[in-house]
Order: sequence, then C-alpha cells, then structure tokens
Amino acid sequence: AAVRPEALACENVSRWFGGLQALKSVSIRVGQGEIFGLVGPNGSGKTTLVNAITGFYPPQEGSIRLHGDRIEGTRPHKVARMGVARTFQNVALFRGMSVLDNILMGRHIFMRPSALAAFFYPVWAERAEIENRRKVEDVIDLLQLQSVRDEHVDTIPLGLQKRVELARALAAEPRLLVLDEPMAGMNQEEKEYMVRFILDAREELGLTVLLIEHHLDVVTAICDRVVVLNNGKAIAEGPAREAMSDPAVVAAYIGG
Ligand code: ADP
Repeated sequence: AAVRPEALACENVSRWFGGLQALKSVSIRVGQGEIFGLVGPNGSGKTTLVNAITGFYPPQEGSIRLHGDRIEGTRPHKVARMGVARTFQNVALFRGMSVLDNILMGRHIFMRPSALAAFFYPVWAERAEIENRRKVEDVIDLLQLQSVRDEHVDTIPLGLQKRVELARALAAEPRLLVLDEPMAGMNQEEKEYMVRFILDAREELGLTVLLIEHHLDVVTAICDRVVVLNNGKAIAEGPAREAMSDPAVVAAYIGG
C-alpha cells in the first residue's frame, strides 16, 4: 500500500495510576484515512491510550503528535478543537434533550463563538448559527436519524443512541474520530450498520478512525492496521490479519 501522511503518532507513551503502570512506552503510527484498531484483553490499556491522546489523562512520558503538532498535555477541549472527536464506551448523551439538540451540542461545544464575539458581530454569529443548523441536518441525513430527530434521547433504543452519539461527534467535523467499542450492546443488524458506516465515513469524509473494538471479526474485517496491547505494552503492531495471528497475541488472548 502507498505510504499515507501521518495523522497521529504516539512515541514511547507511558502513564501511571499510582503504582500501576497502565501504559508502558507505547508507540503507534496512524496514517491519514486509516482505520486503526486498538485491541487487547480487558485492562490492557486501550482506554488509557485514548485518554492520553484526547487529553483526559495526559501521559507522564512520551510524545503525541496530531498531524505533526505536539499535543501531549493539551486540554481535552483544545484537542477537540484541533479536530479530534470521540464517542464513549458507555453512551454519554445529554439526558432529557432531543436527538437534534444533542447533535447541535456537538457543534456548539467545539465551535461556539465567544459570547463577546456574538455581541459585537451579531450578523456573523447568526450566520454561524445557520451554518451549524445546516451541518446538523446533514449529519442527521447521513446517519438516517430523521424519524427520531425530535425524540428525547432517553426514549430511543440503545443502538440508535449510539448512532446519535456518533452523529454528535461528526457534527464537529473532526479529522480524527475515536470510537470506544461502538458495537458494544448492539444487535447484529445494528453492528452491520455501524461497520458499513465506518467504512463509508472513511471513504466519503476522508476521516481517520481510531477504533477500540472487542469483536475480533470486526477488527480483521475493517481495520487497516492494529496495535495489540497487553498489560500496557504493545505486543504487536501491523496489518490487522498479521498482528492478530502473531503467536504473542494468540497467547495473550488464550492466557487471558
Ligand atoms: P482497557 O481499556 O484495555 O480495558 P484501561 O485502559 O481501561 O484498559 O485500563 C488499564 C489499566 O489502568 C487497568 O488496570 C485499569 O484499572 C487502570 N486504570 C485505568 N484508568 C484508571 C484510573 N483513572 N485510575 C486508576 N487506574 C486506572
């Protein structure tokens, strides 16, 4: 395959929680437009690596570059503004709000003009708001959420809630989309929809996707490359099929 420009690079990233080292000098390189899998048994450090990248738990050692810029230690909202959007393992929507408003929040949180700017430049602020609404409508169409757009998020099925969370992430127009177990709790049909969607999003939006995924069949089917973590260490990195059949990886999974 052709060499892609680099979207994300972690170099010797380490993170401790008290005496526990959750990440042990982990390095990964993710090319632009790649679907990159983060794989490994429970507790192996996948979420910690995502939290290091997105600024929630900065690494204590190592560097992280996003499209060439150093971002380790950057606060989560700034990382978001730099084009990184994320969904969570347990759906994290704004309860009591409609589907539409949840998605609009994705737009506002990351791109809100300051109140002061809105006061001095009302025409500009109004235009920005029209643009926000237009973008949100696009995302609702893209994820086929028209029929539930005015429903409260609490009242729709989990599979659809996950889709709303994805819509909210996409509304911010990210360059890097981080998905934390997007298929967890989904039925077969919903899983297939999500797989199709991730592939289309890469193709049509040119997104780079970082995917934490438990279903190994999904990983080998859609990930270009993966890193396999075990006890905080990267034990294999490379094309999905090769990395997954690495003897060390097989042993880690069987060994638990
Ligand atoms: P995974 O996502 O692969 O299941 P995690 O990254 O969640 O693994 O966890 C890796 C290790 O770090 C685990 O031992 C976990 O208990 C620990 N850990 C993660 N987050 C914290 C935290 N906020 N405080 C203390 N320990 C944590």
